[in-house]
Amino acid sequence: MQDYALISTAYNNEIRIYVSKTTNLVEQARNIHKTLPTASAALGRFLTVSAMMGLMYKDKDRLTLQIKGDGPINTMLVETNSLGTVRADITNPNVYIRSEKEGKLDVGKAVGKGFLHVTKDLNMKQMFTSSVELVSGEIAEDFANYFLKSEQTPTAVSLGVLVENDQSIRSSGGFIIQVMPDASEETINKVEKAIYDVGPVSRWFDEGHSLEELLKKLSNNTFKLLDKKELKYYCPCSKDGFSKSLSALDDNTMDELIEDNGIEVVCHFCKSKYNFTKDDLINIKTNR
Ligand code: ZN
Repeated sequence: MQDYALISTAYNNEIRIYVSKTTNLVEQARNIHKTLPTASAALGRFLTVSAMMGLMYKDKDRLTLQIKGDGPINTMLVETNSLGTVRADITNPNVYIRSEKEGKLDVGKAVGKGFLHVTKDLNMKQMFTSSVELVSGEIAEDFANYFLKSEQTPTAVSLGVLVENDQSIRSSGGFIIQVMPDASEETINKVEKAIYDVGPVSRWFDEGHSLEELLKKLSNNTFKLLDKKELKYYCPCSKDGFSKSLSALDDNTMDELIEDNGIEVVCHFCKSKYNFTKDDLINIKTNR
């Protein structure tokens, strides 16, 4: 089944709900970056919340999100947009830590203390970046804090990634619930109870429930569907794109690469390799 997200209003337009299933795109990220289980869970949660956040924007808007912590993962970067595509990079994918008490994958420890940076390219002249300190490194709490502090929107975020014994992704998904300014106390109480009743979102998916059922439960059956969006891991990189980056290098660096008889460039996001021969590089240098 394809990955997708449902966007809806609920409780008489007082609440906005995003739910998503991202098992395939997180598995693809795992295959590209060769993440070990705790890194898979951290990157999977980050990709899931970012994909849903991208859907809050319009047409050509783009978001770049970065989680930089002092844990062994170091830095994770996700790019997303309103079309439901994501791509990611991770500094150290070789992280496999379980919590001592419960034996669960310890994402908080793998990420550590640090910051979440969100940069918005809203097709205006400048970009906007806002940063918040990480609350726990568990990703969901960190984003809930971001929405409250940076966007003044009370928000509940739940994310869940389950990893199989063979380290593949069994299920991944999550939800974002945002409280609109005119929401009543009564509605907020109902939502809080619904979130409590749903429990951990990873268990919800593991029990085979659909996104529609999740939306129904979270909204007490009051949802009005606004949109359904396919989600996917997609990298638009090309040899042409890397040629443009290379043409920005200074003469000395360019000459060194030419003397080295060409280079191989690897895309950080999808690990595609592009070969630039000596002739390619001479062409780029003379035609810039
Ligand atoms: Zn790429």
